[in-house]
Amino acid sequence: MRGSRVGADLVIAAPESVAGHEAWDVVIIGAGPSGSIAALELARAGKRVLVVDKESFPRFRIGESMLPHANRLLTDLGLMDRVEELPHVVKKGLEISFGDGRRDPVAIPFARMLGDTIKQTFNIRRSLFDQMLVDEATKAGAVFRFEDGIDSIEHIARGDVRIRLSSGPVRADWIIDASGQACVLGRHFKTRRLLDGYRNISYFEHFEGVRRPDGDRTGFATLAMCRESWFWMIPIDDRVTSVGVVVDDEHAKRIPVPANQRLAWCIERCPLVADRMRNATGPTTNQVVGDFSYTCEPFAGDGWFMVGDAAAFIDPVWSTGVTLGIDTGVAASRRIIEVEAGRRSAEAAMKSYGKRVTRLRAGFLGLISNFYDHSFRELLVSGHGPLNVDAAVVNMLAGEIFEGVPFDVRWRWELMRWFREINRHRKVVEWIRPHSLLQAGGVPLPSPRSGVIRGLRRGERGRPSWQPS
Ligand SMILES: Cc1cc2nc3c(=O)[nH]c(=O)nc-3n(C[C@H](O)[C@H](O)[C@H](O)COP(=O)(O)OP(=O)(O)OC[C@H]3O[C@@H](n4cnc5c(N)ncnc54)[C@H](O)[C@@H]3O)c2cc1C
Repeated sequence: MRGSRVGADLVIAAPESVAGHEAWDVVIIGAGPSGSIAALELARAGKRVLVVDKESFPRFRIGESMLPHANRLLTDLGLMDRVEELPHVVKKGLEISFGDGRRDPVAIPFARMLGDTIKQTFNIRRSLFDQMLVDEATKAGAVFRFEDGIDSIEHIARGDVRIRLSSGPVRADWIIDASGQACVLGRHFKTRRLLDGYRNISYFEHFEGVRRPDGDRTGFATLAMCRESWFWMIPIDDRVTSVGVVVDDEHAKRIPVPANQRLAWCIERCPLVADRMRNATGPTTNQVVGDFSYTCEPFAGDGWFMVGDAAAFIDPVWSTGVTLGIDTGVAASRRIIEVEAGRRSAEAAMKSYGKRVTRLRAGFLGLISNFYDHSFRELLVSGHGPLNVDAAVVNMLAGEIFEGVPFDVRWRWELMRWFREINRHRKVVEWIRPHSLLQAGGVPLPSPRSGVIRGLRRGERGRPSWQPS
């Protein structure tokens, strides 16, 4: 019996046993959004699915802000109503500013996007969101085991996956790696590669009493850009705001306080964020995550798929992670269903999956490299441009690249990139001296020649150099 329904109740078949191994159709490592969504789709298609996670749920995760494409996917999966029932904040745009506090943040409302597309999304506490996805996948028939991890991989091939979990040996026809930054398969195949130029450390916490944008900007996420770092302030429910800072690892080493106190140190030196946090309450220490970008390409092979962060991690500035996790969870599980139903060959399924993940990853990396480019940042905060270029930029900031970029957005985005290049040498908009947290804290910056002042180094060609003064 394969997870079949009896009346309103679900009967989950006890796993078969093959040569001492529990037998499943698909085993999934990791119960985050990418793993749970894959489990949901597979279980709905009648597959016997086992999901193991080494942690107990609900558990904290950072990554609380979605892209509009997440709404599209969750609506298709019939899950948007469940999201609506949870405490969340409707996100209708962003505000972006340099952190010096001298200029008001610029609003980037999703309503300005070109075309007939979803113009809002949501921010949510991940412990609640991830648990809801686990509950829905369980209702569909997937079996979850928490505090159970993978001890060793014996064999991986389609129809013959054998692994050893802490709870015992398991065999399956397919394995999906949804283990997040643990990258179980990427490490097993030794394919995980760090991406140069995106070696960051993040310091973050949840606070109450953070002053939020209001009026037309209610629910907007706020980004504050500094020379060696950027901050996020993301309202996740009526009271709580997620606040974090991402610092280049070379600069992070120079912050003269322990890692778990660096968020407060950075906030004190960023006038915009310090002002918003004047009446905030929260922990005095912070959490720390290294968010080095990496890829584990190839993303699929004989009997296996990597989804979400287990496939690749991209710098968090574009809030892509969870939406990509849901997208890839759906894409991988649907391919397994199609292969098993004989509607697609395994080779074609792997190839098209790899192409999709590669395209999305490359597309977002291209967008992210702009954010770290000072010339682009100056254009971004300068208000409206000609020919509706700024509206096309909103489409891109909202991550509307999943189903391809329409021509009217694409050419305007290209034009924006031209403006960015021209603005390096000749003023298209006001040139703005970036605010440095380290300099504000009396700490000398590393030499620009060390190559760590990423976008700024690129953005400073032909410009007065922003050296310590
Ligand atoms: C600083 C920062 C800010 C971010 N901000 C955003 C944001 O605003 N918006 C956004 O969309 N994304 C954001 N992200 C990214 C987001 O957190 C991730 O992309 C997202 O959590 C990926 O989901 P996932 O299901 O792939 O992995 P995860 O949510 O990490 O889940 C993986 C699961 O696998 C389990 N696991 C790991 N190893 C094993 C093992 N050996 N055996 C069993 N289980 C295992 C873990 O316990 C975990 O529960 C941010 C990331 C960082 C670092």
